[in-house]
Formats: sequence, structure tokens, C-alpha cells
Amino acid sequence: MQPAAKTSSSAIVEIKGLRKSFGTNEVLKGIDLEVQAGEVIAIIGKSGSGKSTLLRCINGLEVFQSGTLTVDNKPLLHDNALAMRALRQRVGMIFQSFNLFPHLTVGKNVMLAPRLVKQQAEEPGTAQAKKLLARVGLAEKFDAWPDQLSGGQQQRVAIARALAMEPAVLLCDEITSALDPELVGEVLRVVEGLADEGMTLLMVTHEMSFARKVSNRVIFMHQGRVHEMGPPDQLFGNPQTPELKQFLSSLH
Ligand code: ADP
Ligand code: MG
Repeated sequence: MQPAAKTSSSAIVEIKGLRKSFGTNEVLKGIDLEVQAGEVIAIIGKSGSGKSTLLRCINGLEVFQSGTLTVDNKPLLHDNALAMRALRQRVGMIFQSFNLFPHLTVGKNVMLAPRLVKQQAEEPGTAQAKKLLARVGLAEKFDAWPDQLSGGQQQRVAIARALAMEPAVLLCDEITSALDPELVGEVLRVVEGLADEGMTLLMVTHEMSFARKVSNRVIFMHQGRVHEMGPPDQLFGNPQTPELKQFLSSLH
């Protein structure tokens, strides 16, 4: 039997010719990127190279000037509120600052978005939140308040909260940068678990040994462009451009 003709891409995220400026400052200068289901991509590069802006474009948080961006084969259309809402449900994002709602318990933090956006009922919501908290190692914190938790625990709740929307892709922007060093490992272990389970992940990180261990592909951004891209062993072990060589040596 002939397989059906493929009419759409299998990529979860597809970016073509993406350009983004703030005023006269062009910070993304034509980005092309395809992310396949289950891929784990680490994005590295100097401060100001456009890493966060790229993630924010994928999440629909930034309007861009030209190029196309699709998530799950659906184009990102800023003038279509319904399409943007659907997109945000498919893309989860976690930031450096955890931003849990301080007036809600941990469990309610995890349940809030599905309840508001998907009209999820109390009962499957509670069960799902408990399952997600168990997945990030915090099963016993369902009724705790955010300020009773360490930074690492709060960030793990933020991960559970993002997963509650069942995103097709999870964007992580330096999610361990605000943590005390002794709390970094517990958050990275959760991310590694998600990667092992097949979650599609795009993560900006300064944790190079983690990126090397967990990612399938590394993107080095430099001055608004994908300057080098490839398997981690190649990028870290055999960098091709002087800019990447300099960036890697600046880390030691
Ligand atoms: P990175 O995450 O790699 O450090 P960013 O994407 O945050 O880089 O920033 C890229 C460039 O865009 C920087 O020059 C930064 O100053 C600029 N930029 C980012 N956000 C804004 C904004 N909201 N308004 C104006 N300029 C911005
Ligand atoms: Mg950034």
C-alpha cells in the first residue's frame, strides 16, 4: 500500500526567514529552524544574541516583522486572536523567574490555566495536578503555598504548571539561572526526565555540560543569527567558527 502523500510537515515548530526588530535594532536577522517531535534543542550564545527573543516569538509574545512561524502546522497569526489563543495552548514556556501566583496553593497554581482556558472541571484537574506534581517530585506539596518552597521547588512547580496545558513543545529560558547552585541539579533532573519521556524541548541554557548530555542538537546564536548548529559533540568538541570557539573558551 502506498503511504498517503504528505501534505504537511512533521515538524512541531517550523521557522522560516524570521526577522524581528525593536525599533531600528534588528535582533533576529533571518532565522530558519525546524524542530521535530521529541527533539531536545539547546540554544547557547552570548547575552544579547537574540535567544530569548527567539523563544518569545515562538510563544507569540513578540510580534515579528517578516518570515513565517508555524507550531503543529498552524501558522502564527498575530491579527487572529483565536489562532493566538490556540497557539499559546500548544506552547509552554518557563522563565528564569518562576512567577507562581503567591495567593494560590501549589495545586491551584498547576490547575489554574486548564481551568480558565479549557474549562477543566475540579475533579480531573485535581488528579492531573497531583500526577504532574509527582512527576516533578513534589507530590506532597499540593496544599503548600509557594513561599513555603525553595527556589528549586518553585521552579519545579512552574514546570508542572506548564505541563498541565499538555504543550506540544516546551520552551525553557535559562530556568536555572536564578537558583542557588545547590538547587540547580534538581531542576535539571526534571528537565532530563521530560527529555527522556519524549517531550519536545527548546532550552536556552548556560549549563553546557547539561546541554551536551541531554540535547540532540545545539544552536549557537550570534548577533541575531544561527551561527552554528549541530549535534552536541560536534558543537562543543569541534566548533567551526571563531565566534563559537571564543564563546566556549569564555566560559571556563
Ligand atoms: P539574549 O536572550 O540572547 O540575551 P535577547 O533576545 O534578550 O538576547 O535580546 C536581544 C537584543 O534585543 C538585545 O540587544 C536586547 O537589548 C534587545 N531587546 C530585547 N528585548 C527588547 C525590548 N523589549 N525592547 C527593546 N529591545 C529589546
Ligand atoms: Mg535571554
